[in-house]
Amino acid sequence: MKQEKAFVKEITPQSKDFSRWYIDAIKKADLMDYTSVRGCIVFKPDGYELWERIQAAMDQRFKDTGHRNAYFPMLIPESFFQKEKEHVEGFNPELPWVTEAGGEKLEERLALRPTSETTIGQMYSQWIQSYRDLPVLINQWANVFRWEKRTMPFLRTSEFLWQEGHTAHATEEEARQETMQMLEIYREVVEQELAIPVWKGKKTPRERFAGAVDTYSIEAMMKDGKAVQAGTSHYLGENFAKGFDIKFLDRDNQLKYVHTTSWGTSTRLIGSMIMVHGDDRGLVLPPRVAPTQVVMIPVGPAKLREKVMEQFDPLFDALKAAGIRVRADLREETPGWKFNEWEMRGVPIRLEIGPRDVDKNQAILARRDTGEKVAVVLDGAVQSVKDLLDEIQQNMFQKALAFREQHSHLGIETLEDLKEHIANKENEQGIPGWVLAGWCGEDSCELKVKEETKFTTRNIPFAPPATKSTCLACGGEAQDTVWFARSY
Ligand SMILES: [Zn+2]
Repeated sequence: MKQEKAFVKEITPQSKDFSRWYIDAIKKADLMDYTSVRGCIVFKPDGYELWERIQAAMDQRFKDTGHRNAYFPMLIPESFFQKEKEHVEGFNPELPWVTEAGGEKLEERLALRPTSETTIGQMYSQWIQSYRDLPVLINQWANVFRWEKRTMPFLRTSEFLWQEGHTAHATEEEARQETMQMLEIYREVVEQELAIPVWKGKKTPRERFAGAVDTYSIEAMMKDGKAVQAGTSHYLGENFAKGFDIKFLDRDNQLKYVHTTSWGTSTRLIGSMIMVHGDDRGLVLPPRVAPTQVVMIPVGPAKLREKVMEQFDPLFDALKAAGIRVRADLREETPGWKFNEWEMRGVPIRLEIGPRDVDKNQAILARRDTGEKVAVVLDGAVQSVKDLLDEIQQNMFQKALAFREQHSHLGIETLEDLKEHIANKENEQGIPGWVLAGWCGEDSCELKVKEETKFTTRNIPFAPPATKSTCLACGGEAQDTVWFARSY
């Protein structure tokens, strides 16, 4: 009992210090470790498997919509960055450079890629000649580097894993359709697999990708009320095509620039999932991506273990055969200690069998999301587990949706109101959450809100829950209705 208490104490409560809670939770769950390179982490097996499952869900949908994977080099010549002016300005401060190799100084510095529009643009200019070569629909799974000043495991690291889609099209219309299609795929994966509700929308010009005509995002609310940009999809227009001279001969015999898109999601989805669902006991993982969906633990006195195992072993095999990711914890620890450990790791279902359960022909299922326990008949246990996994997945989404609604504020009209709202929430140690407000379209208003409240524009939602007529900062006529929030 003493040991159990100490165990949970090692995780800082969310209400005390959310960032501390996050670090404690991912460390205790053994998802990652720090390394001697600042801002670069190890994805340990459970952390990496979360990524593999997100990857699989994304990759299937990319392929279903006609995309194929390729791989481009990690090193990018400096001159490539000069070809798209906004792009170089946007990324230059964050680039690590290779200046020496083979014991000699390089003639041209090589950057560790922050994203691959430049390299891929260079190749596309050679591969695309005619309308017959279009569209080009390529995705890359890779690591990228952005030398961030402040890092946070999974959410912002100097090196991270991601996918970047890069497509080229004959027309603007087709490229814009692609941009929207991929944004929708992101929404679907994040909502269905990770149980995180998101807002789809357009970024303001200040927040858009360096070199894009339009940037769209999905935005998610964490449990501390901050936002995470969980995925982006960009319509790049002819900007990169002009920079890299990607032209094609169209059906009308005219030489034209292609229209390109790019779209990306990264390992920050792992961090988001933890911050949306976790609680004071540790992680709560959505069943669809959890590395372990069910952990089986025998309970009761050791002298009756043999009797228990006669039911335990066949059930383990049956669950496995049904495609459920099941693990048996047969270590010589107390059941209480094991319960804590697997709760902390976020395993959706704990399945217990003791001698009395065997007598009653039952097993006990304990849910991680609600803490509830139910007894199920042993013969039907596989189906019961499957149904419960589905129910947990749905419940986690609904819970996150209810939380988001509770912390979304639609009635704040002026900057003074916003400041008062933030002060009130901070006084009562509450969460300021998100604010839906009008915006006149001026950079200066966006900047003013940011400087005075640290709230930034998240996106202009396609389907806002309300429409605003006046600008939050200047009171002038609103051009758009925007989500404002603090963000990671
Ligand atoms: Zn304004």
